[in-house]
Amino acid sequence: MRVVVVGAGIVGLAVAARLAARGDEVVVVDKESDLATHQTGRNSGVIHSGLYYAPGSLKARLGVAGAASMTAFAHEHGVAVETCGKLVVATSPRELPRLATLAERGRANGVGLREVSPDEAREIEPHVAAPLRALHVPGTGIVDYRGVCAVLAKQVEAAGGSLRLGTRLVSAVTRGAQVEVTVHPGHRSDVGQPEVLVADALITCAGLYADRAARACGVDPEVRIVPFRGEYFELVPERAGLVSGLIYPVPDPRFPFLGVHLTKMVHGGVHAGPNAVLAGAREGYRRRDVVPRDVADWLSWPGLWRLAARNAVPGAQEVLRSLSRGLFARSLSRLVPGIGPDDLVPAPAGVRAQALARDGSLVQDFHVVTAPRQVHVINAPSPAATASLEIARYLEKQLDETLGAPTPPR
Ligand SMILES: Cc1cc2nc3c(=O)[nH]c(=O)nc-3n(C[C@H](O)[C@H](O)[C@H](O)COP(=O)(O)OP(=O)(O)OC[C@H]3O[C@@H](n4cnc5c(N)ncnc54)[C@H](O)[C@@H]3O)c2cc1C
Repeated sequence: MRVVVVGAGIVGLAVAARLAARGDEVVVVDKESDLATHQTGRNSGVIHSGLYYAPGSLKARLGVAGAASMTAFAHEHGVAVETCGKLVVATSPRELPRLATLAERGRANGVGLREVSPDEAREIEPHVAAPLRALHVPGTGIVDYRGVCAVLAKQVEAAGGSLRLGTRLVSAVTRGAQVEVTVHPGHRSDVGQPEVLVADALITCAGLYADRAARACGVDPEVRIVPFRGEYFELVPERAGLVSGLIYPVPDPRFPFLGVHLTKMVHGGVHAGPNAVLAGAREGYRRRDVVPRDVADWLSWPGLWRLAARNAVPGAQEVLRSLSRGLFARSLSRLVPGIGPDDLVPAPAGVRAQALARDGSLVQDFHVVTAPRQVHVINAPSPAATASLEIARYLEKQLDETLGAPTPPR
């Protein structure tokens, strides 16, 4: 069976490698000239353990299984990985009930964790703020997701598949037993000629363009992707010793993002962040990046106005923190006292693709829609990198269901 996979991020490559391994002829297309150019190559590099997600959700199921399979994959293929553990610290009394709920969720999801006293927390992270209470999750790890993608891409090619980088999906249509996928070289429509790839099936894993990709294939995803930029700083090398693993605040359950945290990186150094501010472009990595069509996309979506009305205060706080390194440092010093603006140097930002429903609710779980011979990944936010090998298994099943064929057990 010939399958076109759109997106050479970790989700697209993981499903492409899985289908190639079972003998499908896979063609991966990505508009960029390299692998993992967007979310996958610009994330925190954490293998999340499954602490945060509603029990029974796809995030919980695929995230917990994915943490194990991603760790094993990295070890097996020589990709840099380390199981360094994570501490979630409650520093104010109002966070204590939320920390307890988090512990309950974690246990319900089968995550190994321990509630620890302030003294125990300081044995794990000697410089952490004196927390009122903390959760220690020893199984959380860090990994080189770009390295994982390089291995997956090699697996695709070794199994006879091909990677067509610098190739953009324009549209697709299912006609009977075939999908005709129109692609175009590069980003500009006035340079180069379109080409039609004829396939038995199509899977799109287009990240920040997930909704547009689905619509271009005739499928209405009923949500809009809203891009939230996550800005990072790095601790200056002399201060990197303040953090031994990962130190997180207690997240606000109203938001899918985890709050600015301190993350040891697998190739050295400590990242601080990311925050979450609305970006002026789907791939708007800098404040000055503004694409009118992207802005019009979210301004015209009623869900955004409803979300903004409900979250005006925290939204404004995020914007202020984005504008002030001092405020950013202050958030971090709640986790590790003494971190100041001079300890931080800017690091490259990432942009999260977050699906937003018309009623203003953020789609919390992974979300996939199918049409005859087509599977579209619509919402694959964190921990989709962690869960990618399991998402691939899930997508394989969805694909086979759209084709009316049972997935052979593997
Ligand atoms: C700041 C940040 C921090 C994060 N931290 C973590 C973390 O620590 N751990 C974790 O598990 N997850 C984390 N995540 C989430 C994780 O990175 C994503 O869930 C995951 O990378 C999604 O992978 P993807 O393949 O779906 O998307 P992407 O990596 O964005 O890939 C999508 C690809 O589709 C391509 N594409 C789009 N449109 C087209 C088109 N029309 N034609 C051809 N190609 C197209 C793009 O060029 C891109 O390469 C983080 C995300 C961000 C942004």
